[in-house]
Amino acid sequence: MIDLRSDTVTRPTPAMRAAMMAAEVGDDVFGEDPTVNALEARMAVLFGHDAGVFCPSGTMANQIAVNIHTRPGDEVICDEGAHIYRYEGGGTMATSGCSVKFVTGDRGRFTAESVKAAINEDHQWLARTRMVNFENSCNRGGGAVWDIDEVDRIKQVCQANGLALHMDGARIFNAMAVTGESPKAWGQHCDTISICLSKGLGTPVGSVLVGSEALMYEARRVRKRMGGGMRQAGMLAAACHYALDHHVDRLKEDHLRAKELEKVLLQQPYVASIMPVQTNIVIFTLAKERPTEAFLSTLQERGIRAVAFGPGMIRMVLHLDVSDADMDHILTQLAQVE
Ligand SMILES: *Cc1c(COP(=O)(O)O)cnc(C)c1O
Repeated sequence: MIDLRSDTVTRPTPAMRAAMMAAEVGDDVFGEDPTVNALEARMAVLFGHDAGVFCPSGTMANQIAVNIHTRPGDEVICDEGAHIYRYEGGGTMATSGCSVKFVTGDRGRFTAESVKAAINEDHQWLARTRMVNFENSCNRGGGAVWDIDEVDRIKQVCQANGLALHMDGARIFNAMAVTGESPKAWGQHCDTISICLSKGLGTPVGSVLVGSEALMYEARRVRKRMGGGMRQAGMLAAACHYALDHHVDRLKEDHLRAKELEKVLLQQPYVASIMPVQTNIVIFTLAKERPTEAFLSTLQERGIRAVAFGPGMIRMVLHLDVSDADMDHILTQLAQVE
């Protein structure tokens, strides 16, 4: 079975497992795990920030960011498809007591003007607008990638209005593989960035939140409060080091394969439309008469798993565990479905 439901389904390779087994470890709650400390420092330097905090999930890294930027009753501006709103168990509202205000963008990418319009005026009747969250690449936007110039304009709006800017960079390495910006360029634009190492980069778990010394000091307290203080986590951090060394450059291959998928899908009568493919995510809408569940079963009978992504919509994600032979199989099967 070829699993295209998500890029989270990848399993650690034998070489990654060997690196995990060989990791030097200590108690990270005492700050004594050398492999975790090195990973946090590495990610901070890479993105041009002071410090990093290793988290067991991207959800926790994002929710820590929301928590350190806000107080209960504050408001967070984000796209209506944002992970921090839709897919984190209501965390933004429950864990930090924040309301959200949606801006509607082009496949997850909104403008500085829309941010400006969404900021509440300073008035005792209104929630205090305190932060902006954007996703790069945009999951519900079919892996759409941001233009850094627009983020620069958003940053200026944030600075002028006392708002923090957080990038949910679950797939930031995918985005950078397309646009070629450096991690430091993104770091300069954002107060905090969460970076996932278990998606396209293929580790079993792990995300890192980066930011200033003062923010990461608070982030450590919140991580502990959320139960994310891990002990000999160096084995997990070793997988992340391995992924950074060996799995970043190959993301381009996933993107090329996603383009091949797009090309074949565009020719199929059962496909009504496809979001333009930029990275490793392919989201398409089925022709009106096709029920989503039946289509997914048909795919499964042909050895392919995908996931429903809204009414009539299907998502497929390319990743490390898809081989050349798998790719041939996928393209052949997709062309044969009636
Ligand atoms: C996957 C994902 C996350 C984090 O998810 P976890 O499963 O908690 O690691 C955050 N943001 C986006 C956009 C994602 O796709």
